[in-house]
Amino acid sequence: MTVPKEQHPALKLAYRRRNVWDCLSGQEKGLVMAITDNYKSFLDMAKTEREAFETSLRYVKSAGFRPVDDAIALKPGDRVFAVNRHKALIAAVIGNKPLEYGLNVIGAHMDSPRLDLKPLPIYEEEGLVLFKTHYYGGIKKYQWLSIPLALHGIVIRDNGEPVYVLIGEKPGDPIFTITDLLPHLAKDQMDKKMADAVAGEGLNILVGGIPLAGEDLKDRFKLAILEHLSREYAIVEEDFISAELELVPAWQARDIGFDRSFIGGYGQDDRVCVYTALRALVETTAPELTALVVLADKEEIGSNGNTGMESVFFTNTIREIASRCVSGYKELTLRRIMSNSRALSADVNVGLDPGFKDVVETMNAARLGAGLVLTKYTGSKGKYESNDAHAEFVAHVRRVFNNAGVIWQTGELGKVDQGGGGTIAHLLAAHGMDVLDCGVALLGMHSPFEVASKADVYMAYKGYRAFYTR
Ligand SMILES: [Zn+2]
Repeated sequence: MTVPKEQHPALKLAYRRRNVWDCLSGQEKGLVMAITDNYKSFLDMAKTEREAFETSLRYVKSAGFRPVDDAIALKPGDRVFAVNRHKALIAAVIGNKPLEYGLNVIGAHMDSPRLDLKPLPIYEEEGLVLFKTHYYGGIKKYQWLSIPLALHGIVIRDNGEPVYVLIGEKPGDPIFTITDLLPHLAKDQMDKKMADAVAGEGLNILVGGIPLAGEDLKDRFKLAILEHLSREYAIVEEDFISAELELVPAWQARDIGFDRSFIGGYGQDDRVCVYTALRALVETTAPELTALVVLADKEEIGSNGNTGMESVFFTNTIREIASRCVSGYKELTLRRIMSNSRALSADVNVGLDPGFKDVVETMNAARLGAGLVLTKYTGSKGKYESNDAHAEFVAHVRRVFNNAGVIWQTGELGKVDQGGGGTIAHLLAAHGMDVLDCGVALLGMHSPFEVASKADVYMAYKGYRAFYTR
């Protein structure tokens, strides 16, 4: 008699992607829903990098973290944070072992693709008042037409005073939009390549249409909006030059599906990893090795700038922590701490979409609902600009996750030669630490409405916790 196929002992030898829902107890399923409800609130409060920063800062403060600068010396169990210009945050829980044993670092980014206002945005044309924008990060421009947009950000007057702007989030608030062409007259547009159908200079936001009285007054539609802005915010047109005003989708994060299995929302790249890593850190007490999260800005435009991962903020903060933990601290101490550290570059990856199967290699593509994704390498073409994690370190993370009951999977960023992308992994690795990309698979990445599986969000949290407390 032959052994039934499904019970053949050789089946155990094969890699099998598991579905998280198959592996959860009833109690854990309840936890998935509770944590992801909280995550949705986080997404709604954190639609810009500044808001993600402020929300994260409030969270760590409420969990007993204090500024590293306030401490004279640090001891195991201490919880500290450091901030950088309202846009980047580092928080850490000091471990029992000396810092020279290295840190367990998780790095994520708080910025997301969006539309920024230009320094001089406002103009009128044909009785409409519009704002010119410059898009930030990798977007498919057509996705930003005909959707409700909210305006978030800050204006700094020349005397240094900040003016906070938030329009389009409260019920009853006006919203803004970019109008699209009607299909009846879109023959030429529809014949274009998708990349050319909407021009970068075509992303203009409708912001008003009631003129000042006096038909021969020049620019009276624009002037009416300037008058409104002066009245409501006490700002003048020149103030836009020192402003960071961002258009983001005006909708909230929502459950998707009859069974509420997914979350749809804006900015999940990479706030899904920001939220789960931060939550994992906050729930970590007395770890063996110091646990640290770095939440960076500007990843979507190359990690440059003094709030991006390329900046000295990361090194300087670890220096500040180390000088308070290690007696006889010297520069070499920092170098040792860095090169003995391990890091997860917590960023999203592509989930296999049945509608777009041909851009991935299905055997090595991540599935939604199959857990946290380990990505050994990103990059493009022949792995260019990829960190390509060492086998030893991938095995370490695998072991940590397996021991903690974390459901994880492997995932590549698309087919070979299809395109590609990068994360902050190589920037962490430059300090000498071992780094692995490890995050949540999304559908519709970089769209105004990205989709994640609640099961994967939960496993990210569980995996990051395990990494900190291994
Ligand atoms: Zn990202």
